[in-house]
Amino acid sequence: MDGSRTEEVMMQQDPQDRCSEEDVLMDHFKILKTLSTGNFAQVKMALHLLTGVPVALKMLERGKTNSNIIENEVEIMKFLDHPNIIKLFHVLKTTEHIYLVLEYASRGDLAGHILEVDHMPEVEVRHVFTQLVCAVKYCHENDIAHRDIKPENILIDANKIVKLCDFGLAINVSMEPESTMFCGTLPYCAPELFSSQDYDPRALDIWSMGVVLYIMMTKHYPFKGKTYNQMKIEMQKPRCYIPPKLPVHIASLIVKLFTTNPRQRPKIHGVMEHEWLKGSEKFSKPTQSLELLPNKPNPSIMAAMWGMGYNPKDISKSLYENNFDSIMATYLILKYNSPWVDNSNCNEKLMQPNTAMAPADPPICHYLLKSIGSEPDNSTSTLPAKYPSQVIINS
Ligand code: ATP
Ligand code: MG
Repeated sequence: MDGSRTEEVMMQQDPQDRCSEEDVLMDHFKILKTLSTGNFAQVKMALHLLTGVPVALKMLERGKTNSNIIENEVEIMKFLDHPNIIKLFHVLKTTEHIYLVLEYASRGDLAGHILEVDHMPEVEVRHVFTQLVCAVKYCHENDIAHRDIKPENILIDANKIVKLCDFGLAINVSMEPESTMFCGTLPYCAPELFSSQDYDPRALDIWSMGVVLYIMMTKHYPFKGKTYNQMKIEMQKPRCYIPPKLPVHIASLIVKLFTTNPRQRPKIHGVMEHEWLKGSEKFSKPTQSLELLPNKPNPSIMAAMWGMGYNPKDISKSLYENNFDSIMATYLILKYNSPWVDNSNCNEKLMQPNTAMAPADPPICHYLLKSIGSEPDNSTSTLPAKYPSQVIINS
């Protein structure tokens, strides 16, 4: 993931290859609609023509400024394989764009869902949050920190399975255990990001999970700063209003996640141990990859692809080399939409009432972070103000 080497690899690519990648795109996909247009990326819904399966196409513009960020996202996405993380199927590079062909989440993002509903019931919040915990646990155990956890980057698929996406700001902590670069989305940023000191990127994720939980429960941002400077001042002594109607066990988890000192903030395993989440059956299911690629390709998928005209040797080679080309894409798309493979580990397919909920904590005052008695200023904190992801290199 060295930036300068990445640039070199891109420069050396044969223009002929880029043309053929454009052909692959035209031949294999039919673009149906635009899902989102952002600063650097457009996301389209498309049909994978060979299988008839809908996919998401994330189109990233190749520019000098963001080529390292793009390459970083691609490398990290290639590695990730978890039921609560959007799966990368195919990477296509044309002259102007890099296309990521991704698993499609038909129910859109959590930000849209929060705005759509009057109120998210606790059981639904728990359903979403436990799956977010599963995704973050997998990332942190594999030395990846996301650094931009927010409702826009949490997707929901047709089966109401939650999927973390957008690893554009993610970092491999085994290569960079501490960082000083400011990155993330303002309302979700932890206090230490504003201090120009080294920070542990995984601790940022824990804080932003607290912001997501708070928003699901209240439809408000917990911290009101709208600019970097306002947030910097607010984060010197973070305080947020905890509405008295918030269930006590959720309030207590939010307070824990908003531990100002990152060293004292719980790690992901500590979050799983919290009363509100402890014992979730989602935590006890295996969270490893759905099958051991490339050692043992699924014979039913191999047979189906053979029927489509693929040579089994080419399939094995593409999987073995982790090529993320059209062959591997067809294999993965079939696998992720296959009646022959159980893709449901770690998740309940549908929301179920929270029968295993731990008894509530004894009554506690709504505490620590809140400015007691002051209602939130709705004019400044209500969703849906959208904030962009940001990267600022500290000097
Ligand atoms: P930008 O910051 O330029 O807006 P981005 O890097 O945030 O782009 P993503 O977060 O990956 O891009 O995607 C933007 C939006 O597109 C998401 O918030 C979501 O609404 C939609 N989207 C992304 N991937 C998928 C997917 N796999 N399935 C369904 N919708 C998706
Ligand atoms: Mg995003």
